[in-house]
Amino acid sequence: MNTKLNTGNEMPLLGLGVYDMHNEEAIEAVNHALLTGYRLIDTASMYGNEEQVGIAVNKAGIIRSEIFITTKVNNAQQGYDATLKAFDQSLKKLDTDYIDLYLLHWPIKSSRKETWKAMERLFDEKKVKAIGVANYLLPFLHELESYANITPAVNQVEFSPWLYLEELLTHCQKNNIVLQAYSPLVRGKKFEDPVLQHIAQKHQKSPAQVIIRWNLQLGVSPIPKSSNPSRIEENFDVFDFHLDDKDMAALKSLNQNFRVVDDPMDYF
Ligand code: NAP
Repeated sequence: MNTKLNTGNEMPLLGLGVYDMHNEEAIEAVNHALLTGYRLIDTASMYGNEEQVGIAVNKAGIIRSEIFITTKVNNAQQGYDATLKAFDQSLKKLDTDYIDLYLLHWPIKSSRKETWKAMERLFDEKKVKAIGVANYLLPFLHELESYANITPAVNQVEFSPWLYLEELLTHCQKNNIVLQAYSPLVRGKKFEDPVLQHIAQKHQKSPAQVIIRWNLQLGVSPIPKSSNPSRIEENFDVFDFHLDDKDMAALKSLNQNFRVVDDPMDYF
């Protein structure tokens, strides 16, 4: 299942997040995901595993144009010149000719504007197929709109039924920005929720599969992380069932502004 970015390029909606996996574990997870059918891999300079992602992608025997690679500029490397340099380093580590999506990882107050300007240059010079942001809640997006020449293709934020950012989702959809959900499985902290359990039993699916399906039906791009082969497969086995309106609404109603990662507003 793909979505069209505002660049005209396609992006798979469901991807594999590779935060907190290292060395062989990362190579094996990405390799297994590609064999399973995943075509979007979400890494970051900060995760320290771009080389492993590159190795797995190159040995998969799948043509590069069928795989969508996202990476992100590290906080410590933000700023105009530093971002241009960081991009080249990521490209080298990933051992590829281009990056599909380059994200500004966290909106660091002193450097986010210059970082975005450098990312626009990378896009204009066709070194990257799309640029986007991460952790841009509405105030950050409004600020960006005041100086950006390019609308971000993607905004990657923490998003789940327990952190249902309706206003942000509406704004992104209206402005042709794909909302991408990080930590979509809430790092396992909500699997026991009785509403989720009930819906999972009704569809004979796991709680993780229900959450992933909920994102897809909202038009949101979930990037669950797993380095376990059977859970990598489980998280991709979400295309044979459909949540009805009641299920969708029940999941939305679980919102309680619950986060497992830092609140981006601390950066405003
Ligand atoms: P997550 O995907 O919500 O949860 C990952 C955790 O859930 C892991 O402990 C994983 O363990 C477990 N898990 C995965 N599938 C499962 C299943 N089917 N059943 C039970 N447990 C399961 O959390 P996340 O890693 O924080 O977020 C996903 C991705 O989002 C990251 O990898 C990263 O790419 C991205 N991210 C971006 C930002 C940002 O600032 N832009 C921040 C955080 C994350 P196993 O590996 O053992 O399966």
